[in-house]
Amino acid sequence: MKKRILILGGTGEARLLADRLVGDGYEAILSLAGRTAAPSASAAQMRSGGFGGVAGLGTYLRAENIAVCIDATHPFAVRMSANAVLACTHANVPRAAFVRPEWQPVDGDRWLFVDDVAATVRLLPAMGRRVFVAFADGLAPLAALDLDFLVRRAEPGPVDLPGARVVVMRGPFEREAERRFLKSEAIEVILAKASGGDSARAKLDAARNLGLPVVLLRRPSPPPGPTVASIADAIAWLATHAGTS
Ligand code: NAP
Repeated sequence: MKKRILILGGTGEARLLADRLVGDGYEAILSLAGRTAAPSASAAQMRSGGFGGVAGLGTYLRAENIAVCIDATHPFAVRMSANAVLACTHANVPRAAFVRPEWQPVDGDRWLFVDDVAATVRLLPAMGRRVFVAFADGLAPLAALDLDFLVRRAEPGPVDLPGARVVVMRGPFEREAERRFLKSEAIEVILAKASGGDSARAKLDAARNLGLPVVLLRRPSPPPGPTVASIADAIAWLATHAGTS
């Protein structure tokens, strides 16, 4: 019988891994939080919606006879990752976290790291009036500022920042298109999450090209336990822990 692999998704890497495993003949289940009304298709079996905390995930792991789990959620999805650590430990299901390589600045990058959105309130007014915000959650502290905010999100939906303009665009993004976008909007400063990996990097390269400063929210620490940093790493880890080779 094939071992069942649960991939906690919500990222491009999760989908790539799920598709790769199905292509290799394994039974992969790709789990999504259910925030996206029309998620991109996957060759893997898909499920959607929260499990119901640690207990709910534990019940799911047992009911679905999950042999192994890869947590490939977004680096800022800390609750899901913490739940996966506890539920997989209790259920004795081997788990690894997919941790993207951190972005490293190169000559010309003007990056400033902060701990959270609230910490940007003192900084932004001195950096520019037209602010591109590359994420759409947790923006309420910015309401205290009289600046022109342009918020990008992947799907239409409310943004907790009165007066902000919202643009709906789904990645992956490409550097030249990002450069054109930032230029056409006359952006003066960018606020983004330090998510790492390739798919969201293009805006930083475009910012460097235009000489724009970028305020980055520091990435939370990865969950404890084993990590993988690429699809190839994940396949190798699975081969050891789920006998997938
Ligand atoms: P979160 O705060 O860590 O998770 C909140 C709750 O959503 C979890 O406790 C869980 O509910 C449910 N959930 C999250 N990911 C899930 C998954 N893959 N499958 C099933 N349930 C899931 O996460 P978030 O920051 O809201 O992110 C939600 C989703 O969007 C994640 O899949 C994440 O990878 C993706 N995403 C997040 C960001 C970001 O910046 N946070 C950016 C891009 C994409 P229960 O406790 O009921 O199980």
